[in-house]
Amino acid sequence: MSQLLLGCIADDFTGGTDLASTLVRGGMRTLQVVGVPDGPLPDDIDAVVIALKSRTVSCEVAVSESLKALHWLRAAGCQQFFFKYCSTFDSTPSGNIGPVADALAEALGVTFVVACPAFPENKRTIFQGHLFVGDLLLSESGMRNHPLTPMTDANLVRVLQQQTHKLVGLVAHGIVRQGVDALSLAFRDLEAQGCGYAIVDAIDDEQLYAIGHAAASHKLVTGGSGVALGLPDNFRRAGLMGEHDAASTLPYIDGLGAVVSGSCSLATNAQVDCWRKNRPSFALDPLLLANGHDQVSEALEWARDLIHAGPVLIYASAEPESVKYAQRKLGIEAAGELVESALSAVAVGLYHMGVRKLVVAGGETSGAVVKALGVRALRIGALIDPGVPWTVGLRNDPVALALKSGNFGSVDFFEKALANAP
Ligand code: ADP
Repeated sequence: MSQLLLGCIADDFTGGTDLASTLVRGGMRTLQVVGVPDGPLPDDIDAVVIALKSRTVSCEVAVSESLKALHWLRAAGCQQFFFKYCSTFDSTPSGNIGPVADALAEALGVTFVVACPAFPENKRTIFQGHLFVGDLLLSESGMRNHPLTPMTDANLVRVLQQQTHKLVGLVAHGIVRQGVDALSLAFRDLEAQGCGYAIVDAIDDEQLYAIGHAAASHKLVTGGSGVALGLPDNFRRAGLMGEHDAASTLPYIDGLGAVVSGSCSLATNAQVDCWRKNRPSFALDPLLLANGHDQVSEALEWARDLIHAGPVLIYASAEPESVKYAQRKLGIEAAGELVESALSAVAVGLYHMGVRKLVVAGGETSGAVVKALGVRALRIGALIDPGVPWTVGLRNDPVALALKSGNFGSVDFFEKALANAP
């Protein structure tokens, strides 16, 4: 394990996959593990991403799980650490981004940390500390209606400041566009002024590479996958890593295809509508599930007849009004858990029917499905769309998984993913 260079902690599964694929593209051989590993990992890897499900759990649990992950990564010899959260900074006023970053920084003895969720390739940019989704401020985007982490303020300095006692500063566009040296200087200045964090503007990948470069000596970096773009080159520059051109090669997987969706994000809803136009689909309803209706068995019975003719979609995705209605009736968490556990049972049922190429939409949903399938580690392959690679879930009988975070992917993503499965 002596060659492990970068140790990453992701606050959800699809976020972990997104980060891992960025590192793979940068030539780092990367393994994503589901939760803190309980055994040795293959030794031909440069980076490990420990994917937690800590975005929406209680702050105490998120902190303690993240510290456990850090402990494992340190013991494995990692030299630098990365805390990955969502490119839309998904969190509530009490956390969990601030408290987890605080705990990791303290454990590592770090006093200044970069915070940059920008992901321009997916239209998340930061300007003057404000996060944009396309041409909309975060607070005016679909994220304002997220079932678990509604984002109603686009000013990330203010959002992060609510979650930490440390002072949050800003490295704005005017500095960022000057490049690596100006960034390094700005980081040192802010630290000298007593800032514990800097939100860093970024509107394109070139700026993210520069931010990553300027953070080469930072023990802890936090952000979206974008800011990790520059990290592989840091290790190469330091002579610690060679070129690995085949970092994204996956083994061939034989089996049926299916899609499971528990994301209610705008992009996913459009993808579900697109699929339903000419492909079979089955909708789960949280209110029926809560009334003890066995929709899981119904969906699986329905799929059993169809799946050999082509892939099917089973989904709970719904428009904001119906999500809010279900949440009012059942409670936000209870509705989420009910749907996650139903979709996990559906995924396991589909696996038993011979599905080995499974597309899952939704970060939390993906976490639940991966756990239910008993997958402990994922080999990361080539990208289907920005932020979403095919992966192979390592288990006795491996399964190919495309784990899509809510707002990612083109409108025909489900079809495209299955057409390009390993
Ligand atoms: P995203 O990546 O879009 O944020 P997630 O899977 O992370 O998607 O989160 C969506 C949450 O909404 C999950 O907890 C899911 O179980 C829940 N959910 C899905 N469908 C519904 C619905 N119809 N009503 C209420 N909650 C739902």
